[in-house]
Amino acid sequence: MVPGARLVVLGKQGAGKGTQCVRLSHHYVVPHVSTGDMLRAAVKQGTAMGKKAKSLMDRGELLGDDLIMDMVTERLGEKDVRARGFVLDGCPRTVSQAERLAAILAPYDLDLAIDLEVHTGQVLRRLAARRVCVDCGANYSTSTPPLISWTCDVCGGEVIQREDDTEEAISRRLEIYELQTTPLIEWYRSRGQLESVPGTGTPDAVTRRMVKVIEDRRNRGSGFG
Ligand code: AMP
Repeated sequence: MVPGARLVVLGKQGAGKGTQCVRLSHHYVVPHVSTGDMLRAAVKQGTAMGKKAKSLMDRGELLGDDLIMDMVTERLGEKDVRARGFVLDGCPRTVSQAERLAAILAPYDLDLAIDLEVHTGQVLRRLAARRVCVDCGANYSTSTPPLISWTCDVCGGEVIQREDDTEEAISRRLEIYELQTTPLIEWYRSRGQLESVPGTGTPDAVTRRMVKVIEDRRNRGSGFG
């Protein structure tokens, strides 16, 4: 079996992070930990946290670091993650979250943070076309819909347009990304933990590029402990 991995995937909304994280989690046989999916599940279940999160999420605003990092700490403490690692999707989004993540993982650290690079014009087109399953989070688009009338191929759930994929919320999320998340890329670079990968081309081509940078690192022996 392939060895596990501890990975963070960064990238603008619509860069293809969700799709690629699912693929990496299958490749390395590690859980896909998506803070957005966890929060959407909490909203759907109507939990206290979900109620608190919904309006901020719909507006494209970030939730507080404490709430997010408590949720992530709990998930990263579970047995499956401790056994093999994780692919973290949607977190960290701020330098403060990254610092707290490093503290949670100590004495280990992340193997690698991968920045999935896509131009803003392209992510805007992708986000407008994006559709997701409300139950399992599987990604579709208007050009690659599920086989049967907006019913998820994976779990049979309803496939919809996300409530935060409105024009207004998208531009706010991209603005926040620029302000809060771009400094993270430099933060990981300065620690020697960053690789950038172009997010353009077919999903298969992007996955191959990501696996290659991970394997190159592994072979060089840097980061992987
Ligand atoms: P995503 O699916 O990753 O785009 O996340 C959807 C929404 O959940 C974001 O627009 C935020 O409102 C919230 N969210 C998810 N992850 C985080 C995070 N790490 N920090 C703050 N807010 C988050």
